[in-house]
Amino acid sequence: MFSVAQAEAWVRSTAAVIEEHAAALTKLDSAIGDGDHGTNMNRGFKAAVQRLDGLEGDQDFGSVFKAIGMALIGKVGGASGPLYGSLFLGMGKELGDASEVEDERLAAALRAGYDSVVARGKAQLEDKTMLDAWHPALEALDAALAEGRELGPALDEAAAAAEAGMKATIPMIARKGRASYLGERSRDHQDPGATSTHLILRTLADVVNGR
Ligand code: ADP
Ligand code: MG
Repeated sequence: MFSVAQAEAWVRSTAAVIEEHAAALTKLDSAIGDGDHGTNMNRGFKAAVQRLDGLEGDQDFGSVFKAIGMALIGKVGGASGPLYGSLFLGMGKELGDASEVEDERLAAALRAGYDSVVARGKAQLEDKTMLDAWHPALEALDAALAEGRELGPALDEAAAAAEAGMKATIPMIARKGRASYLGERSRDHQDPGATSTHLILRTLADVVNGR
């Protein structure tokens, strides 16, 4: 089972993890973009935490994820703000007024969020974007749950797949976003958005596993 309290803990922990890795994310974005991904994400997740602090009473997934999505859209900026915003809005729409769901429903919500990112950004796999970390992670999560794994271990497998997907962006040539302006010269660099996606998913696994 996955609860709204875990969703809130996920976002609070992610804000801390992003802050810790902000310089590294910005360094990656300096190599193939404009060097703002770390600062963008740090600002956005801080705003998301502030929104959570402002929510009162018992919350459902719909309102919590909507608040987070709106904060990210409003504060991250760049390409990734609307994309990560869409992710959380998509998850919120999928889960609606529930406040606790079965593991498979969490997986379906992540999938709905991913579909929103695809609809918004219109990237394909292997365009060297965050999708290259999200997609293998969601496949691994579905497979692990189908095999009867508990949510914690299943999310560990998803995070490991996101990490592999993140690393697999290194030899890719970017075909979306700012990095695509570099063409061949975008090769041999790890995609910043795939890197932040790995951090977000690893943090979800950590929270659910009580780490
Ligand atoms: P910007 O490129 O506008 O400065 P950021 O630096 O915050 O925005 O984010 C860059 C990241 O956004 C990239 O590393 C990539 O993963 C992701 N990205 C860019 N365009 C797309 C897209 N169309 N679909 C999915 N992800 C994308
Ligand atoms: Mg950038």
